[in-house]
Amino acid sequence: MVLSLSKPERIVVVGGGMAALTTVFELTSRPDWRERYDITVYQMGHRLGGKGASGRNQKRFDRIEEHGLHLFYGFYDNAFSVLRRCYEELDRPEGAPLRTLEDAFHPHSLVVFEEQRGGQWQHQPLLFPRNDERPGLGAATPTPAELIPKMLTFLLDLFDEQPLLKNPAATRSDRAALRLLRRGVAGLLGELGEFLQRPGDGLLVVRREAVLGRLLAFSRWTWRLCAPLLGRRPDLRVAWTAIDVTLAMIRGMIADRLVEETAVDWLRLDHEDFRAWLRRHGASDEAVAASTVAGVYAGAYMADQEIGAGTALHWTLRMLYTYRGALFYKMQAGMGDVVFAPLYLVLRARGVKFRFFHRADALHLSADRSRVDEVVFGRQIAVTRGREYEPLYDVKGLPCWPSEPLYDQLENGDALAHSGENLEDWGTQWPDAQEPLVLQAGRDFDRVLLGIGLGAVPALCAEMIADPNNPRFAAMVRAVKTTHTASAQLWFRGDLASTGWQLPPPVMIPYAMPLDTWADMSHLLPRESFPGHVPAGSCAYLTAAMDDNEEPPVRREDADGYCARQTTRIRTLVEQHLRTRSAHLWPAAQKPGGGLDHRRLVSTDAGADPLDWQHFSPCLNPSDRYVRSIRGSTFHRLDAGASGYDNLVLCGDWTMNPMNLGCVEGATMSGIRAAQVISGEAFALHDDWLAARRPALRPPARERPRYIQRALNESTSPPYEARATAMYAAVLAADPERLADLCERHLGLNPERCYLPLGPSAVFYAQHNHALSAVDAPGVVPERDFGFLVPVAVCERRAGKLTPVGVAVYMPYLWVDLGAALLGGREVLGFPKGQATLGFPTAPTGAVELRVDTWMPPATGRSGAWREERLIDARLDGSARSRVRSLADALRSGFDPAWLASRGVDLAGQLRLLRALTLTLRTGGLRMVFLKQYRDAAACDRACYQAIVEAPCTRAGAPRVAAQLPGALQLRILRRSGLLGELGLRAEGGDSERARVPALATFYTELDFTIGAADVVWAA
Ligand SMILES: Cc1cc2nc3c(=O)[nH]c(=O)nc-3n(C[C@H](O)[C@H](O)[C@H](O)COP(=O)(O)OP(=O)(O)OC[C@H]3O[C@@H](n4cnc5c(N)ncnc54)[C@H](O)[C@@H]3O)c2cc1C
Repeated sequence: MVLSLSKPERIVVVGGGMAALTTVFELTSRPDWRERYDITVYQMGHRLGGKGASGRNQKRFDRIEEHGLHLFYGFYDNAFSVLRRCYEELDRPEGAPLRTLEDAFHPHSLVVFEEQRGGQWQHQPLLFPRNDERPGLGAATPTPAELIPKMLTFLLDLFDEQPLLKNPAATRSDRAALRLLRRGVAGLLGELGEFLQRPGDGLLVVRREAVLGRLLAFSRWTWRLCAPLLGRRPDLRVAWTAIDVTLAMIRGMIADRLVEETAVDWLRLDHEDFRAWLRRHGASDEAVAASTVAGVYAGAYMADQEIGAGTALHWTLRMLYTYRGALFYKMQAGMGDVVFAPLYLVLRARGVKFRFFHRADALHLSADRSRVDEVVFGRQIAVTRGREYEPLYDVKGLPCWPSEPLYDQLENGDALAHSGENLEDWGTQWPDAQEPLVLQAGRDFDRVLLGIGLGAVPALCAEMIADPNNPRFAAMVRAVKTTHTASAQLWFRGDLASTGWQLPPPVMIPYAMPLDTWADMSHLLPRESFPGHVPAGSCAYLTAAMDDNEEPPVRREDADGYCARQTTRIRTLVEQHLRTRSAHLWPAAQKPGGGLDHRRLVSTDAGADPLDWQHFSPCLNPSDRYVRSIRGSTFHRLDAGASGYDNLVLCGDWTMNPMNLGCVEGATMSGIRAAQVISGEAFALHDDWLAARRPALRPPARERPRYIQRALNESTSPPYEARATAMYAAVLAADPERLADLCERHLGLNPERCYLPLGPSAVFYAQHNHALSAVDAPGVVPERDFGFLVPVAVCERRAGKLTPVGVAVYMPYLWVDLGAALLGGREVLGFPKGQATLGFPTAPTGAVELRVDTWMPPATGRSGAWREERLIDARLDGSARSRVRSLADALRSGFDPAWLASRGVDLAGQLRLLRALTLTLRTGGLRMVFLKQYRDAAACDRACYQAIVEAPCTRAGAPRVAAQLPGALQLRILRRSGLLGELGLRAEGGDSERARVPALATFYTELDFTIGAADVVWAA
């Protein structure tokens, strides 16, 4: 984009939720920001905040009405940092309510987990210890290796808190068992401490296996010890499951090599469900089903869903072990009052413009689909005499958002008030006051920041979703899912104790559906204006995800009545919940026949059911829908700067951000990232592990012509997903000099980066992909794919030295049996695919016979016809002994330090490579390198395009099958194909036509994997 140097960049901000306001807050935080930007926030309806919005009901004693229960976690380093700076700038006078961040957020530590046993729900209270840290001051996030001692220390604290240890009535044997457990954990802490000091040392493989074994044995021993104890003392269950799950997390972090990374790529675990990941690392079924784990799912509105293991693990580790001060913070007024009013006041004082009652209806693309050309806003209602709308009013000295617009500032305000229409409702029948406002790129704006919720993206961005040149946009919208949520607030006439609840005010999760979360929020009552004759004594917030009972409207035209129907539905669910589930929470507030006595609720409507006086909150518009992190979906999120359009930046909890989970911290992180993208400045983003993934390798974007899409185009785009792939792999001895020569000839284009064989081996593989799919094409195709792989070291040339930066595989030859796969493979990433008939066993058991029959020119003379000939056949010879013991051995036998040294890789580099290789084996994640080129039409010895491309290949979860086959594959390769010489394969006999190449070892596996979007690391 070309920007005028003299004029500030005009930014149109669509939506004023946490994410967009954070971007604006950061961009305007420099004193000279006005010289660089001219920012206007367009907001539907009368208030900011979106999913976090709240209002005061002026007709009901200024009571706080939220979109849903909101708690801040103590680890929200970014959100607290923004708000801390905001409160400091707000600089409220001495004595003003909520003057400081500490006044506005109070720590909360009691979580009551709920578990059903024998048909009965039981409270499992856990009091999380406090610490002296303060949130939002910018401390570093510990690495996984640093976290493990904290996790074990946390377990020790948990033991010490158990009443059983202090209870004189407990039996001696119970106490002795607990002490024994405690001693075991303390021992582990010491043992792991030493290991974790040098976790990255690849030579510690053996020790790592020993530590993992020891951890597993410890878990089993714990289980044996605890089983009888738990029978007698069910109150210990929560502590026991905490141990079991913590140990599984530690094992997983070691086994999946997270402890060896400082910037962990959490995405690489997201193909697997968190519970499945815990189980894979040894957690018992019982612990995995426990309320503490269920709480993670329910907290992310995913109680009945599968959540990506990486995202959930990252979240859990941050939540439990990196909180500052307390696990939770409760806001001391509505979220609108505490978060969005201060942000609005500070931004407005800085000079940001706000346009309320502007509903974005569409973003239109330019004719060449390279940028946003127009943004169209419905003007919902006009402000009297063209004034600026003043959205806040005072409640007991605090500027607050009203639940309904301040009608007296609006033209036709009375009519709107009497109509009962709600301008935040997507299906409102209130007609727009004026013609739409159409903002045009160049004339009215330079850049758009899209800050709406994901649910509204299909309505506003239909052209992006349909853009064949930008399939990732549509893929993101398809893959990342949202859910409706049900929220309710109940005001009780008596205090909490009078309801029969016997513990201190809790946050409870996960209790029974349909409203699995309850938080007591009685501390808010003093902020409201209940008069003495309306005795409000306590307040309960209830919430949960809610299935769609009807297709949620995407277009506004289809939304008429939707909100009203959903509000009624939530009221019915609440009534049912109170009738059937409330006795467990509020036993003293029940009717004689059971069910909550509604007369215990506050109401001023004589004769009406007091339940009707309470607050029920549906999703008023699709943007309000909660964003989920379903297993396998996070990869499809787009970074703030990756919308695919030159002048469109994205923000929101649905974009690719280091949290990738629907929460205020994720929204804030996405907002900071958007500010980085817009400004090119490094605004601080705490725990930004994604920074390491952002394509440092990728050359700066150049203006490139758009790819011209045809109606029936065979070429599809990555990510490509392969599901249920069966694969044979045979490790073959090869001459490293020949392999090096091949790599140099094919890949040696980049003066700064080279690819060096790791040693004397290549791999022949044969795979049957049962279901292969591309991001921009519906459906799946089956495809077979056979070829040769060369494991290579990726080295940078620095100061005349070779510095290895990782390992990869190069595929100099491969064949597929599907024309579309051949075309797409060559065209997009640069797979050198050939067409062949490929023979693959029909079942994994029985004889293994693989065949590659491909088109070959005549053996002699120039006039004969090409015909399909057998290029390779391979049979498993059960009598031939494998020359290695395992895949690790096989690959290690192909890793030759002496060879690498002879090529200039020093000892430190060799160790780095060994570590990278072991990590690849363990996680199944590797890079593939390609030479992508097209022959020039006019000068046929020239390439018109030539590039070196690297793409990530990620295994999804653990392989379903992974076995070394008894015996070894014997390959017979057609001599005149030239493959033997090119690859330097070591032949052992054969005949004049075919050489026999025995494998060192043969493996069979069944797995899923994804080949992601590539980096062009060098282009001519
Ligand atoms: C019920 C519920 C409970 C939650 N509880 C918690 C919690 O306890 N802790 C936590 O950390 N997180 C919680 N979250 C998540 C948190 O609320 C969100 O992650 C966060 O608010 C998202 O911010 P955002 O800016 O990405 O999107 P949003 O908040 O959705 O902001 C979108 C903005 O765009 C505006 N907008 C939408 N459409 C249009 C349009 N057409 N034209 C103009 N403006 C438009 C909206 O009004 C809003 O201002 C909860 C969410 C829900 C739904």
